[in-house]
Amino acid sequence: MNESSLKKARVSSSEEELSSSSSSSSSSSSSSLSSLSSSPCGSSSLLPQLLFHRSSDFANESGSLPNGEFEPGLATFHRMRSAKVLVIGAGGLGCEMLKCLALSGFHDVHIIDLDQIDLTNLNRQFLFRLHDVGKFKSHVAAAFINKRFGSSGGGSGGINVTPHVGRVQDQELFPADFFQQFDLVLGGLDNVDARRYINSVLCSFVRVLEDGSFDGKIIPFIDGGTSGFQGQVRIVLPKITPCFECTLAMMEPEVTVPICTLANTPRKPEHCILYALIKMWEQAFPLRGKPDTDSAVDMRWICDRAVERAEKFGISGVTYTLTLGVVKNIIPAIASTNALIAAACINEGMKIVSFSSQSLDNYFMYGGDAFGGEGIYASRQWHQKAQNCTVCSKPEVVLTMLNPAVYTLSQLISDSRLNLKKPSSVYKHGSGYIYSEKKAETHVNLARTLSEMRVSDGEELLVLDSSVHVLPITVIVNFSTTPSSSS
Ligand SMILES: [Zn+2]
Repeated sequence: MNESSLKKARVSSSEEELSSSSSSSSSSSSSSLSSLSSSPCGSSSLLPQLLFHRSSDFANESGSLPNGEFEPGLATFHRMRSAKVLVIGAGGLGCEMLKCLALSGFHDVHIIDLDQIDLTNLNRQFLFRLHDVGKFKSHVAAAFINKRFGSSGGGSGGINVTPHVGRVQDQELFPADFFQQFDLVLGGLDNVDARRYINSVLCSFVRVLEDGSFDGKIIPFIDGGTSGFQGQVRIVLPKITPCFECTLAMMEPEVTVPICTLANTPRKPEHCILYALIKMWEQAFPLRGKPDTDSAVDMRWICDRAVERAEKFGISGVTYTLTLGVVKNIIPAIASTNALIAAACINEGMKIVSFSSQSLDNYFMYGGDAFGGEGIYASRQWHQKAQNCTVCSKPEVVLTMLNPAVYTLSQLISDSRLNLKKPSSVYKHGSGYIYSEKKAETHVNLARTLSEMRVSDGEELLVLDSSVHVLPITVIVNFSTTPSSSS
């Protein structure tokens, strides 16, 4: 996963520098990022007090998250044995997480993954063998761990991993209730949508009451991510600490390069590769469609044309490996980064379940490369809740200054202020669904204006994007020409 914050948010080590760096390290208007001292309990933050809302299972803990009164004993053992843990993703991180869970004394573990094993996974996804290629990752990973560390042999110890195959967003396979059974959810995912979705599901289980207390089941979400030598761990206590959505602005946007730059003023080897891929291929093979990214012949052709083009513009650095990386959008996966981040995730999971030590509050980042030439860097950061987060703070968004005579439903649902990807339905009170992905007859409404759809000033619409959220966002449309303060 790419997170620009890894590079942007350098955290200084002295208190003085910390206070001055906190404002500059924020890259987002909706979520601010401030740095804390590295004291283990983060005592200068208010957050640990909030963390204490989670109730302890142990009589000797006066707080609700571990605060240093840990005494190992049978109670801890039973708690670890009975905790039900869900791992999402059985790839590079997921394999490492399962191994760490097994060796840490967890017993009841479930794993979800959609994918089948590919030959290229085998260098790092160490639970898989050549004869497993083509089989479902979750099945093979669970079988491997159960055979090696499981209790199926009749002993009292050991782990029992239950596999599931499917997309985590598939509500028929995994209705929201499915997730209620778990005490801890671990994310070993490589895509943002699935993270946003599971985050929204876990947040939907918790309600903040008027007196500020919480109702419902708080299921901690520990999210790991790696990108090459870089990685991060975040802990989300739904509705209590910043959620995944709160810090969405940290995610590195997809880099796009205008075609005119590629055509006229290429500056980087990547520009030459993209030009060969998009333009030169089409000109040379107008009837063939796109090149086959798994064909060495096609990829070699792209690489050779990119080298020629790079020479023409005096650019160096086009290689076959870089060509594959650009064409297939490959981020190198490094086994030891996965091992490190997965271990940090399971350590946090063990602390949360066993109450054996203070938990991470609330974001850890690791940079095994660059960082100003130091070669390695790690720090803890404290992220704040975004006041306008539609998942954990405020479920409505006010869209202001809309001209109902020209503003279409399509424009409304793709408005960047909603931060949605591919909205699946729009519900209008009194009219029912005015758009649904599944109802073809409603698709015509997308091109209609708000006037044509009889949407009135101040009206509320419910907009759902089921690929990233489990609950809809309330969108309040506002036709006034003066910006609303709440927008
Ligand atoms: Zn949030």
